[in-house]
Parts: sequence; structure tokens; C-alpha cells
Amino acid sequence: MKNCLFCKIANKKIPAGIIYEDDKVTAFTDIKPVAPIHLLIIPKVHIPSVDHLGIKDQELIGELFLVAQKLARKYGIDKTGYRLVFNVGKDAGQTVDHLHLHLIGGKKLPWA
Ligand code: 5GP
Ligand code: ZN
Repeated sequence: MKNCLFCKIANKKIPAGIIYEDDKVTAFTDIKPVAPIHLLIIPKVHIPSVDHLGIKDQELIGELFLVAQKLARKYGIDKTGYRLVFNVGKDAGQTVDHLHLHLIGGKKLPWA
């Protein structure tokens, strides 16, 4: 998608702190972290949000979670705990319309 910020990051058209990459998934540090560890895990393919997922994306979604698990272990927050978040649409405050899984941890997280 030409004008999508996260497509540009996945395609290395603009720089980001990429910390993981495979053929389908890219992960990078959030520019405005809300906790000591705040990573964004995205599919390389452009999907606007969870609301746009279909049956064909089932495996890809699983991979996003497995990358999150791997990175939580790598960053040493697997034992202390972490939060995984997909914001979907306006009321949830989604600001980038390219599917992204937030991996947040490294401190006790407030809820709501
Ligand atoms: P959302 O609010 O859509 O769920 O999350 C978007 C996230 O992307 C926010 O946490 C925001 O800080 C992050 N973000 C926005 N622009 C950039 C950018 O240019 N680079 C990086 N690394 N993160 C960004
Ligand atoms: Zn995109």
C-alpha cells in the first residue's frame, strides 16, 4: 500500500528500529513507548485492521502471536508478564491503518 506508514517501515522505505523480521512478519520498537518494552508486530502484507481479516489470514495471525511470544522471551518479560493489544478502529484509538500487535511490558501495567 503506497501511502501506508507501516508498509513503508516493512519495506525499509523509512527507518524504524526493526528488531525482528521473517518472510511474513516485521517487528520494531514503538516510537512513543508506553512501557520499557513496547514493540509493534506487523504482517508485511497490508491489512488495515482486525476487522479486515479473513479465513485466509488465519495462519498469519497465529504467526504474529508466536513472534510476540518469541520476542517476550528475548526481551526477558515472559516470566514477569506482558500485554498484547490490537486496537481496532476509532473508539479503540487505532491511529495507523495497518494491522499491528502491540507487545507491552517491563513494568506493572495499569488496566483501563
Ligand atoms: P495504534 O494507536 O494505531 O494502535 O498504534 C500505533 C502505534 O504506532 C502507536 O503506539 C505509535 O506510537 C506508533 N507509531 C506511530 N508512528 C510511528 C513511526 O513512525 N514509527 C514507529 N516506530 N512507531 C510509530
Ligand atoms: Zn500497510
